[in-house]
Amino acid sequence: MARNLDPKCKQCRRVGEKLFLKGERCFSVKCAITKRNFPPGIHGGKGRTRQTEYGLQLQEKQKAMKEYRMLEKQFRLTFLRAQKMIGNLGENFLSLLETRLDNTVYKLGLASSRDTARQLVSHGHIAVNGRKVSIPSYQVKTGDVIKIKDGSKRKKIFNNLGEALKKVNLPSWLNLVPADLSGKVLHAPGAKDLAANINAQMIVEFYSR
Ligand code: SF4
Repeated sequence: MARNLDPKCKQCRRVGEKLFLKGERCFSVKCAITKRNFPPGIHGGKGRTRQTEYGLQLQEKQKAMKEYRMLEKQFRLTFLRAQKMIGNLGENFLSLLETRLDNTVYKLGLASSRDTARQLVSHGHIAVNGRKVSIPSYQVKTGDVIKIKDGSKRKKIFNNLGEALKKVNLPSWLNLVPADLSGKVLHAPGAKDLAANINAQMIVEFYSR
């Protein structure tokens, strides 16, 4: 499976924002955005250059792609799917990104980053409604129950997960049962549940050129 293998902190520094790609480190003083919030590279220290409108739209799209750990083809296909839906295109697009299985596992706190969540899914540790699903782009829907498979719960990676789940900042569209290492989709993400740091309208304008 093709993946974005660029150094994660450099990706944050390039867009000038925390994209939370490294789990707990992102909340510590070691975060590169806290220490060196300027673009990477030999000329990065000179600061950010002014962008054209096209440049800003491109940057917004790149930021969302990096944040959701997707590559161009997948990202564009998701946008095309959103175009076929009824309602606000930008919100529908962000909602499709938000309800990917890997993102849902991350939002439930079952993984510390989206990369880890994707790995848990593709390695077969996640079940949806009792059946193993190993496709990170699988779209969850209202009523779906997502959980760590019973056969995987004893693995070292899930040690102490129950404690960590008590501190999760859960979005309103999800419910979590820490004791069972499971969560449920209560409803589709509403506008307030969508990534506030992403300007969906700029991405719509980018793809509408
Ligand atoms: Fe980005 Fe900071 Fe996390 Fe590195 S530690 S991935 S710079 S948020």
